[in-house]
Amino acid sequence: MSAASYVSTRGQAPAASLSQAIAAGLAPDGGLYVPAALPSLHREEFAQGTLADTAATLLQPFFEGDALAPDLHAICAEALDFPVPLRPLGDSGTQLMELFHGPTAAFKDVGARFLAACLKRLRADADTPLTILVATSGDTGAAVAAAFHQVPRLRVAVLYPDGRVSPRQAHQLGCFGDNVRALRVAGSFDDCQHMVKAALGDTQLQAHVPMSSANSISLGRLLPQMSYYAHHALAWQRAHGHPLSFVVPTGNLGNALAALLVRAMGLPIDRVHLACNANDVIVEFLAGADYAPRTSVATLANAMDVGAPSNMERLRWLMPDDAALRATLSASRIDDARIRQTISLVAQRYGRQVCPHTACAIAAWQDLSAAGDTRDWALAATAHPAKFERIVGQFSGQPVPVPASLDALLARPAHAEPMRAETAVLARWLRDWH
Ligand SMILES: *Cc1c(COP(=O)(O)O)cnc(C)c1O
Repeated sequence: MSAASYVSTRGQAPAASLSQAIAAGLAPDGGLYVPAALPSLHREEFAQGTLADTAATLLQPFFEGDALAPDLHAICAEALDFPVPLRPLGDSGTQLMELFHGPTAAFKDVGARFLAACLKRLRADADTPLTILVATSGDTGAAVAAAFHQVPRLRVAVLYPDGRVSPRQAHQLGCFGDNVRALRVAGSFDDCQHMVKAALGDTQLQAHVPMSSANSISLGRLLPQMSYYAHHALAWQRAHGHPLSFVVPTGNLGNALAALLVRAMGLPIDRVHLACNANDVIVEFLAGADYAPRTSVATLANAMDVGAPSNMERLRWLMPDDAALRATLSASRIDDARIRQTISLVAQRYGRQVCPHTACAIAAWQDLSAAGDTRDWALAATAHPAKFERIVGQFSGQPVPVPASLDALLARPAHAEPMRAETAVLARWLRDWH
């Protein structure tokens, strides 16, 4: 097999190796890196094993011929060192895929830890630090901060929309210090994302301050997210003799794209259904409207407050034909009233507390069942309810117990610097960071 290579969704950048694509984040033409050819795998190629074992088998073709290939097993073992269990949702027959048992209690720990494990190895001989820029609507920043904290030759600037993340999320972003800085931006998540993209694309600034991204545009985050879909779909197929379907709560489409890639590679996934909050640009697009990105609105499921999903370019690359895409992918819009109602109902009916994002997935699945769908579903539970203790406590009628890892972070002091939502302000700040 020849070395895996990566091309830009915009088609105007030279092909890159995996290491180059991971180090760069965004492609030089402003596009997102995708594999030049999507490998296919057969389920017989997977031995029964841990999540890290599944990940190493799944990702081997993506690492083929790359400088990181000899380290693939070690990277998977380092990044995926916490459980990602499927747990039945009461007696509903449906499963919650619990993605929130990592250090910052959200699924983004998977991608962030994998990216850190890759970059750490790629920068082993560098003499200038690499600055990781990350725009976050809540969970990305904390996961990246935790994954990169005190890693030598790497440093992190986290931008988040001031006042639009939960108090606990804000605390998690500001509590690391050392090589990690938190910037609270007077603007929306889309403003933060725009500032990051502008800085990364500024070649003059790059010459002074070598930078990369850790947003869901980064290939180093997308690839490992495929692992849990593959792992559970394969186990389900072995145990039940048929494929599993997934509901994925969606913002930037990174987690959902991982599920779609696994299915496109030939592994046993049946339906993939997206659950959006009131930011419903994807829902409308899949229902037949033109794709119309817009400004995001604030909702209870704030990590999904995205009006212009950055992975849309990758979705279009994977399924360029709109009609085919609409036939194979569906989505629901779940507004805040429904999120509250679902948190209550899940507490009463199943005795479980779920975060607002997970509630979107559960509500979407309830609608599918009500419409007569009887497939075997796993619903991605993307954050621990303790990250949203106010809303979950209020509507489930019970205080939310805090997991130990989160407790330790909340005990640290936190600090964030205010910043105007202007690309020039960020550029100046980065030049002055010593
Ligand atoms: C980021 C996030 C999402 C959305 O994931 P995308 O990959 O952006 O679609 C959903 N739930 C939680 C808790 C998140 O942190």
